[in-house]
Amino acid sequence: MEREVRVRFAPSPTGPLHIGGVRTALYNYLFARKMGGKMLLRIEDTDQNRFVPGAEQYIAESLKWCGIELDESPWSETPGPHAPYRQSERKPMYMEYAMQLINSGHAYYAFDTPEELDAMRARLTAAKVPNPQYNSITRTQMRNSLTLPEDEVKQLLDSGAPYVIRLKVPRKEEVRFNDMIRGWVVVHSSSIDDKVLMKSDGMPTYHLANIVDDHLMEITHVIRGEEWLPSAPLHVLLYRYFGWESTMPQFAHLPLLLKPDGTGKLSKRDGDRLGFPVFPLEWHGTDAETGQPTVSSGYRESGYLPDAFINFLAFLGWNPGTQQEIFS
Ligand code: GLU
Repeated sequence: MEREVRVRFAPSPTGPLHIGGVRTALYNYLFARKMGGKMLLRIEDTDQNRFVPGAEQYIAESLKWCGIELDESPWSETPGPHAPYRQSERKPMYMEYAMQLINSGHAYYAFDTPEELDAMRARLTAAKVPNPQYNSITRTQMRNSLTLPEDEVKQLLDSGAPYVIRLKVPRKEEVRFNDMIRGWVVVHSSSIDDKVLMKSDGMPTYHLANIVDDHLMEITHVIRGEEWLPSAPLHVLLYRYFGWESTMPQFAHLPLLLKPDGTGKLSKRDGDRLGFPVFPLEWHGTDAETGQPTVSSGYRESGYLPDAFINFLAFLGWNPGTQQEIFS
């Protein structure tokens, strides 16, 4: 049976919504509307260190100003079918899923201290290993539930020793998926590290929470920025180990909006230089160096109309193949 198209925009409330984020939201919205599907918004706020007060409200207001309507979100008047849509409110669930992977042998406890991890990296760097990682080779020399005797693992867990849960990535396997934009992406598993799924503070990492939620929220298409392309093979492994392969979403990794010289993501300063704001609304922030309050004005304050802004964004890297230049 054909599934209803369901897409999501999943920002982390770490600051004002960047023009690149608005573009990702716009593509999701347009795809959902074209396919007669639904678009939901999920707040990915499991990294408390990067949480910025006010950012969530800014995201909500920016999308509203742009006219991007959400079918399900944390701000809906009636809770959607998959509420809550804020990951911090879904916390207990993630541990259950991590335990499922431990029990099926696809994840393991790691007890290494920060000092032990630093020593491992130093050893690998000294041996000129190009990308020093905790992976299928190095895990054999570390303190985890794959190397320690079972009773010692139990003792450590019982004593409340800090641990993380890592994904057990296979040493030799091809991981492949068909990206809607890039085509077939094939990665050898030896280049994927044993990513942390649960942190020592009991919070899930982005990777675990994102996959579990996309599955539970019945997402059919993951449309997101290209910076997440390197994470996708790991996500494919997670879908496989959870036994969710048959409903794995299709991926579409969008090219990013870059600086004019192509060297990186468009910054606020680039926008200032080019004469357009990089954030949609006025943002009251704090200067990272001086701690002083800052105000940056956005499109709304600059007098741009939302329709003009959205039309401009839609035409970056795309055209309809006709002479039509103005779209509502
Ligand atoms: N929370 C991630 C971000 O801030 C979402 C990435 C994704 O869409 O999977 O970009």
